[in-house]
Amino acid sequence: GSPLLQVRDLHVEFHTRDGVVKAVNGVNYSVSAGETLAVLGESGSGKSVTAQAIMGILDMPPAKIPQGEILFRGQDMLTMSGEQRRKIRGAKIAMIFQDALSSLNPVLSVGYQLGEMFRVHQGLSKKDAKAKAIELMDKVKIPAAKSRVGDYPHQFSGGMRQRIMIAMALALEPDLIIADEPTTALDVTVQAQVMDLLAELQREYNMGLILITHDLGVVADVADKIAVMYAGRIVEHAPVGELYKTPAHPYTRGLLDSIPRLDQKGQELYAIKGLPPNLLNIPGGCAFHPRCPKAQDVCRTDVPALATVADGRGSACHFWKETLHG
Ligand code: SF4
Ligand code: MG
Repeated sequence: GSPLLQVRDLHVEFHTRDGVVKAVNGVNYSVSAGETLAVLGESGSGKSVTAQAIMGILDMPPAKIPQGEILFRGQDMLTMSGEQRRKIRGAKIAMIFQDALSSLNPVLSVGYQLGEMFRVHQGLSKKDAKAKAIELMDKVKIPAAKSRVGDYPHQFSGGMRQRIMIAMALALEPDLIIADEPTTALDVTVQAQVMDLLAELQREYNMGLILITHDLGVVADVADKIAVMYAGRIVEHAPVGELYKTPAHPYTRGLLDSIPRLDQKGQELYAIKGLPPNLLNIPGGCAFHPRCPKAQDVCRTDVPALATVADGRGSACHFWKETLHG
């Protein structure tokens, strides 16, 4: 179907005392109803900043969007009226953050906070809002929801708190959920449970889902397609299975090689050498060249365009063919 959300040639910069931090440098991606897009990258790759631009929470005053479009059902949120924008960001797109404890109010019960969504947005009575809160807690599989609705955030485990955040996001039945590292703070087994729940609800409600993560392992089973970001750009995008089987960018290959695998127990893990670039001073040519094992002279001078590798696949590498087949 037609995409729910399309990000087009988005640029975001932060004007700081030290200079201009170029956080997002021409990002394009889209997500449709019922589809899950994983956006993968190290910290500072621009994956969170892109999401913040979508949600309008680039709240640092020096942030600027000098170029680009963020289309929700074909309408640019960057140019629509403030009122239209608030309607979309309030009810149609919901966001889930990594740290549930700091997103929830510690002195209000979770039932109150869940119910508030319905009291404020739908004018429900206290009693009806509480019933809705319990229903949502059931939906996200919190055991004994009825008896726990009056409990405070600190009385829940990390995994249960993250389920409450998912319930909050679901409350107004949004078309799209953006989840920024939703399971990073949790144990590995709990991570998988929360990710499965999110995927299950996404299917049930036929929502679009954008999963932002630094961990390729976490999203493998739930994503339909992946966009890999580096230095504020998408360096590779592909359907998830193809990206895993035949990465077409050396950075993606490096990320894949650094995932621990059961069949390689005891072997030393590969690590991409060096650090992500300073966004005040992004290397010329291919931004990845100082860390790339395949870099040639041209990589230091020419920015690689996003080449079409196949239908729905692209790679921003001068040597994507060699990478794909090597
Ligand atoms: Fe490596 Fe060059 Fe490809 Fe960049 S363009 S990823 S430096 S081979
Ligand atoms: Mg982040």
